[in-house]
Amino acid sequence: MKIRCLKCNDIIESKKLHDCVSCKCGACSIDGGNQYTRIGGDFNYINIINEDGKEELLEKFN
Ligand SMILES: [Zn+2]
Repeated sequence: MKIRCLKCNDIIESKKLHDCVSCKCGACSIDGGNQYTRIGGDFNYINIINEDGKEELLEKFN
């Protein structure tokens, strides 16, 4: 899964377990690859990027 930080517009992706990636401003992070996705940060500023390329605000999943 990929996410976009809406503060710095960076797109980050965790490719495998224990691969924790932060965006360049540090406001959000993603971990766990595709098996166990964990997203950290302020959910008001994180977009999920779906496999079809569409983006959705993460907030509505919580
Ligand atoms: Zn950022």
